[in-house]
Amino acid sequence: MIGNVILVGAGPGDSGLLTQKGLWALEQAQVVVYDRLVSSDILALIPPGAEKIDVGKESSHHLVPQEQINKILLDKAREGKRVVRLKGGDPFLFGRGGEELELLEENGIPYQVVPGVTSALSVPAYAGIPVTHRDFCSSVHIITGHARAGARLQINYEALCRAGGTLVFLMGVTALPQICQGLLDAGMSPGMPAAVVERGTLPQQRKVVSTLEQLPQEAKQAQIKSPAVIVVGKVCGLSQRFDWFDRLPLKGRQIIVTRPADRSGTLCGRLRQLGASVTGYPCIRTVARDNCPELDWAIEHLGSYRWLVFTSPAGPPVFFDRLHSAGRDARALAGVKLAAIGPKTASALERFGLRADLVPETYDSQHLAQAMSEVEGPVLLCRASRGSDALPALFSKNGIPFEDISCYDTVYEAPDPAPVLELLKQNVLVTFTSASTVRGFVESLPGADLSRVLGCCIGPQTAQEARKYGIATVTAREATMDSLIECIKGV
Ligand code: SAH
Repeated sequence: MIGNVILVGAGPGDSGLLTQKGLWALEQAQVVVYDRLVSSDILALIPPGAEKIDVGKESSHHLVPQEQINKILLDKAREGKRVVRLKGGDPFLFGRGGEELELLEENGIPYQVVPGVTSALSVPAYAGIPVTHRDFCSSVHIITGHARAGARLQINYEALCRAGGTLVFLMGVTALPQICQGLLDAGMSPGMPAAVVERGTLPQQRKVVSTLEQLPQEAKQAQIKSPAVIVVGKVCGLSQRFDWFDRLPLKGRQIIVTRPADRSGTLCGRLRQLGASVTGYPCIRTVARDNCPELDWAIEHLGSYRWLVFTSPAGPPVFFDRLHSAGRDARALAGVKLAAIGPKTASALERFGLRADLVPETYDSQHLAQAMSEVEGPVLLCRASRGSDALPALFSKNGIPFEDISCYDTVYEAPDPAPVLELLKQNVLVTFTSASTVRGFVESLPGADLSRVLGCCIGPQTAQEARKYGIATVTAREATMDSLIECIKGV
């Protein structure tokens, strides 16, 4: 069977700017061939089973020559693979996308193109520069500042000046002085606003806004490096006023998120949306026990319990899996009241058609215990091994009969610590959403210097655990994601 190739534009870096169709293509890919400019957040979306081929190009020499890239695409498709060719920005804008299709066309390989958000328009946007504006210009021109090996830049500066539109130069950092001089020689005003934007749309974005005459000098001082977009035109004068990206509350912050991978999506996404540079470091995971005779026994005797308590969204699926295996369904819970530690756990129950009778106002074990201090037992606790002692302690104290069943385990994962060890050299925020994430984090980094870490903790018990390891902490006012995010904003 013959495979196919989808040429996908990955956008400029912010993973939110990958198109839906691009994401769909990535999710079904068996081979992904990608460039240097594709950001790590986007590479993280490649399915774990897919073969990844890095053909990243350097500006002066090619790591993998173009012909070889074309050949890789052809060979992989001929092996019957679904291939995604992932390129920065839009694949057809200075991306050699056309060249890569030629060999496929000649050989009858089916292909599709998914256009991408180009850096030429989006990077200025993130720097507060609308590339056109009715008061200033009526066209925008996108020009390469890169010459073919050994050749001089071929730019018609006079024509560009005459057109009077906004000029956007890609691949122009090395040639910046030459480009500005060319425009000045062609008669453009030395005071024309001009800007250069480095690593646009990413948390590390930096910009220098100046005039045509001063820009090369100022960019040099700021040590602006590739990749960067150069913009020349009156619209650059709006950059300070529309500086929305640099004003985001968490811009420039480095944050490590230790939440389990399957539940970190929203926290990572929300922090990124606020401008933070987020590194996912899932160091714990919950795993259902293959065999849990205590739970099976409790399920057989469900009618004898007054309350069933879940302390994490991981609980209900495990419970119902065993219940269904026993040939029973939710009706077995008629007459049993349900308690959930927080709204996420309550919505995990709702997926099975059940509503929690009790959710404490503050979502932690201490408050759940308080809220249950007067209930009538027996209570069935269905939770992780190594859970908090708050509930059993209170039930024992108040003489409420209970059964504490460990029906899933929190296992510590050992993700690659290298990127995190690098981040620990500077001040860094680390989010902890349970005491077990603290233990998972510390145990995965033996001997690491944690003195520059500020642990942003979901609640007092988590913070107490972090302080045991000498980690400085701040604590959310309430045990919710919203409150944790507010707490991080206030740091
Ligand atoms: N096809 C790409 C452009 C490829 S040429 C697109 O449509 O965006 C590579 C050049 O794109 C870089 O030299 C730089 O000028 C620009 N570029 C790409 N990503 C960028 C980013 N995140 N920030 C600034 N410039 C970027």
